[in-house]
Amino acid sequence: MVKTRLAHLPSHKTMADFDYSFQPGVDPKQIAELLTLRFIEHAENVLLLGPPGVGKTHVAVALAVEAIAKGYTAYFVTLQQLIDYLAEGNEPVGAKMRVLLRPKLLVIDEMGYLPLDRQAANWLFELVSRRYEKGSIILTSNKSYGDWSSLFPEVAIASAILDRLLHHSTTINIRGGQSYRLKEKRRGGVIPTVDQAGSS
Ligand code: ADP
Ligand code: MG
Repeated sequence: MVKTRLAHLPSHKTMADFDYSFQPGVDPKQIAELLTLRFIEHAENVLLLGPPGVGKTHVAVALAVEAIAKGYTAYFVTLQQLIDYLAEGNEPVGAKMRVLLRPKLLVIDEMGYLPLDRQAANWLFELVSRRYEKGSIILTSNKSYGDWSSLFPEVAIASAILDRLLHHSTTINIRGGQSYRLKEKRRGGVIPTVDQAGSS
């Protein structure tokens, strides 16, 4: 029996499926370094930033797939799923936190679409603090760091979370890239290209 060491991957993607020529913001050398999984050995984090459709989730999933292939435990959740998991049900929060501390790699996808209330912000702070220098986090966000404070009830907690996340980390900023999702639609003429839209 093949032991699957992950839960909740939304899709199976690898970096072999990734078209670097479409996304110049992603450096193949940087990805090759991450694929060695040294960042997991060193309990470092990876932050993937950029607008929708530029491949943030793809890269996060590909790194998780590689981690599992090499025998690491990995767990994938969106930030919303993470907060819902901690908020709902009868199991004590402490026990659920321990579940989230267990995998060597925790992927938290889609930070930035919803602002966090105080409870959710405190949970995220606790999780990031307790994984700090112990277990890797890959986090994706459509918001640049400067905009993070708007997602939290207080600037101080946003700074405290960022401070711990970034201390030992790699940031891949895909800002300025084009949406791969829309590329297919543009090719089919469903929506105008950026140039066409801009010149009309
Ligand atoms: P994001 O998380 O940044 O919104 P996704 O990673 O979900 O974007 O990418 C959207 C879709 O486009 C996915 O199916 C993904 O596999 C694909 N995709 C994005 N960028 C690339 C790329 N450079 N090469 C191949 N597929 C890509
Ligand atoms: Mg995504």
